[in-house]
Amino acid sequence: MSNVYDLIIIGGGPAGLTASIYAARAGISYALIDKGFPGGQIMNTSEVDNYPGLPSIGGMDLAMKMVDHAQQMGMNSLAEEVTGLELGGEEKTVRTIAGEYKAKHVLLCMGASPNLLGAPGEKELRGRGVSYCATCDGAFFRKKTVAVVGGGDTALQDALYLSGLCEKVYMIVRRNVFRGANYLQERVKAKENIEVLFGTTVSSIEGLERVRALVINTSAGIRELAVDGVFIAVGITPNSQLVKGMVDTTSAGYVITDKHCLTSIPGIYAAGDVRDTPLRQIITAAADAAVAVQHMLEA
Ligand code: NAP
Repeated sequence: MSNVYDLIIIGGGPAGLTASIYAARAGISYALIDKGFPGGQIMNTSEVDNYPGLPSIGGMDLAMKMVDHAQQMGMNSLAEEVTGLELGGEEKTVRTIAGEYKAKHVLLCMGASPNLLGAPGEKELRGRGVSYCATCDGAFFRKKTVAVVGGGDTALQDALYLSGLCEKVYMIVRRNVFRGANYLQERVKAKENIEVLFGTTVSSIEGLERVRALVINTSAGIRELAVDGVFIAVGITPNSQLVKGMVDTTSAGYVITDKHCLTSIPGIYAAGDVRDTPLRQIITAAADAAVAVQHMLEA
């Protein structure tokens, strides 16, 4: 089989899967490379209720529907980790541990990863009560007390999901307001077992074998909050390390594109959470990919 493609898509979240569907429909040769199983961050999302036509669908269900759709269209996916790129010239090179691939176009769909809180105890207790994925680890805290740190959409969704499993959920929000969407805030306020601690930060995560408590800094002073687990949802960092110093990025590392999702290098596009964009949602990731593939077909 030839290793030269019209398009190589790096990353198999909603952006990458949409690109795969559009590339298949257009009849161009392409490969989607993802180091794991395609699906992306929505695999870790409890519920999605802003994707048109699919109200209140589980994140994993939606991801699987997208994977199925792409596979039905004949998705050519490679489960390999990309280790290097050469993006100059007409023919781009994508290196993985398994080999080297060439393409006329590359679409960067590497998404983003959760940020660390940076609190003492976080690294030591990771996987022993410290988690970055409520849907992955929530079941370990059934009928227990947990805290969610953060006030964005992810934290609000995590708190809602955990409120259905845990006896008590604290939300620790550093400002006196949430950052996340109003409709999620309203749902959180309606839950009796969620207590929101505004204006509060985590000074440390305590425990020897497992998380035992948080030391929190509130307007009333420092105190200990007994919890069995802590879910950290304090934002994301773009997975743009592969293209660092190659394409233009913001200071935070988001890949800068034009309205066609074209980066500063001809033939290199970016879509989804890795891109500098005012809205990072499943629908915008999918839309980015559609715009990018359409543009490369017309260019
Ligand atoms: P986010 O929107 O950046 O929110 C991060 C939250 O963590 C904010 O409340 C922030 O506080 C807080 N925070 C940041 N650093 C902190 C620290 N060191 N200590 C304590 N708190 C800290 O991140 P996100 O919720 O992960 O969402 C990321 C993107 O994905 C957003 O664009 C979001 O809209 C999108 N998303 C969308 C959906 C959906 O469509 N349903 C679901 C999930 C995520 P401040 O507000 O004070 O900065």
